[in-house]
Amino acid sequence: PTLTIRSSSGEYPIWVGANIRKQAGMLLKDILSGKSKVLIVTDRKVGSAYLTEVSEAFAPFLPVETAVLPAGEETKSFTQYENLLTKALEKGLDRQSIIVALGGGVIGDIAGFMAATYMRGIPFIQMPTTLLAHDSSVGGKTGINHPLGKNMVGAFHQPKAVLYDTNTLLTLPDEEWRSGFAEMIKHAYISNQEFVELLKKKVQSISDLKSDQIKDLLTRSIQVKADIVQDDEKESGVRGYLNFGHTLGHAIEKNIGYGGLTHGEAVVIGILFSMKVSNALQLSAWDVESEEKWLKELGYPVNKHKDLSHKELIETMKKDKKSSKGQIRMVLLPETGKPMIAAVEEKVIQNVLADK
Ligand code: NAD
Ligand code: ZN
Repeated sequence: PTLTIRSSSGEYPIWVGANIRKQAGMLLKDILSGKSKVLIVTDRKVGSAYLTEVSEAFAPFLPVETAVLPAGEETKSFTQYENLLTKALEKGLDRQSIIVALGGGVIGDIAGFMAATYMRGIPFIQMPTTLLAHDSSVGGKTGINHPLGKNMVGAFHQPKAVLYDTNTLLTLPDEEWRSGFAEMIKHAYISNQEFVELLKKKVQSISDLKSDQIKDLLTRSIQVKADIVQDDEKESGVRGYLNFGHTLGHAIEKNIGYGGLTHGEAVVIGILFSMKVSNALQLSAWDVESEEKWLKELGYPVNKHKDLSHKELIETMKKDKKSSKGQIRMVLLPETGKPMIAAVEEKVIQNVLADK
């Protein structure tokens, strides 16, 4: 494998490579051995492009069933979750069956949650097909949304393997590349300067990502996430660093309405904001303008938050899961690779939002 990840439920392999979806059965042979059936879960868009090939790759090893869900965030619902369980029961999946999540973060989250809960838990495999899913497929978080909040229902369930075919990314629209690349940028800033410089040197436009170098960049980025979740699987300490850029990012997403901006676009604004707050607290001396320049060239709408009500953004940040008792806690970045979590006074947040 490209990487091996340690988790509380044992080690699991991650393969990253071009066209490896066609060798899925072969690569996963040991994991599939002794199993009864595989259920491949995907969405319509991904399914129409890749489901036949992936089914064929598993067919020599196990009987294959498929479930095709609608594409999009709304799929992470109780209704679709129940539909999946119904399908699994109708098709006779048992405790020896295995789930394959073929798709982006939405499919990974719902199929992983279904696997975590079906008959009190059966194994699953992640086959990410978006750039963002390099982040979501590692770490073991699975779940669905509740009408009152995103990701409010879920479970930790580690995959048995992650099989990442970089060629499936080639059909991804640019805005999805941009969204996923934000998590890579985040991983670089919270880990090391060399990774940040590599990204700045190699990626001047989103289309630069659509090349052979994506395998190397993905592997590094997954490694950063893996190192953090290995240290802190259930999110008590360092795992919180993965929220870099996400306190304001989530607030922007909520206030603009999901869909108004991609997740990654909101996160990039949040990353720049966190640098500005770090500067304001005299923890750092970021040249934010120069950081911003690169991100703007990549097409991130770095000023989009300025149209939103600062008051509402602040209210939403106070409700962030890291915050407590109305105090905003966020990830600050004194320097690359040295994130820290701290409570920040509302006045400071206000001033930075107002560019004062
Ligand atoms: P997604 O799965 O909805 O994919 C985005 C869009 O791209 C969809 O329309 C999908 O059909 C399409 N698509 C996927 N792969 C494609 C391909 N290869 N070619 C063409 N189109 C393709 O969204 P996402 O951005 O991958 O993931 C977002 C979700 O991930 C959110 O629900 C978020 O909560 C979750 N997430 C989970 C974690 C975690 O740790 N579990 C971490 C981050 C995000
Ligand atoms: Zn994110």
